[in-house]
Amino acid sequence: MKKPYQAKRTTFCGGFKKMEEVFRSVCRICHGGCGALLFVRDGRLIRVKPDPDSPFSLGRMCIKGLTTPEIMYHPSRLLSPLKRVGARGANRWEEITWDRALSEIAVKMDRIRGESGPESIALGQGTGRHHFMHVIRFANSLGTPNWYEPGLANCLLPRITVSQLTYGGVCCGGLLRKSSSQNHPVLGPQSDC
Ligand code: SF4
Repeated sequence: MKKPYQAKRTTFCGGFKKMEEVFRSVCRICHGGCGALLFVRDGRLIRVKPDPDSPFSLGRMCIKGLTTPEIMYHPSRLLSPLKRVGARGANRWEEITWDRALSEIAVKMDRIRGESGPESIALGQGTGRHHFMHVIRFANSLGTPNWYEPGLANCLLPRITVSQLTYGGVCCGGLLRKSSSQNHPVLGPQSDC
């Protein structure tokens, strides 16, 4: 697959020449979508810098986006599914493969759907990102209308609704504004929206 942006640069570390690749990307830790430059050396992300050419974030990022390498390589980060072993609350877990996790979940969901009907299953997810529509599609294919994400009740949807009613358009939260940088989470809200 063609990479949208890639540059190579040489740095010096301990007297050794090191080749770094720089990828243009977008931070998705929050809804903001700040333009980011990812510096990769030997297949490892070593740092993130704001993309000065991003028309959206105008060369700025917050500390969450800038510390992406620490999040990626944190020793406590979960890298495979964990299955509870022993009693609930005993905090004992075993690592299992994705294939095994998906297959066990599929068997259980199929059993519940057969015994109690598809509407007995509710799907909940975290705040909306690019996987958002896949979860809704999955609920639809299961045959359940019971799908929930917290933004519908707590943050984004009420914000959009109030903005629509008050201003006739979305004025906060990064959607449908005149200029995408007008309400950027790092740059702050602009008064003319
Ligand atoms: S505001 Fe911070 S966390 Fe959100 S997209 Fe920008 S850099 Fe990432």
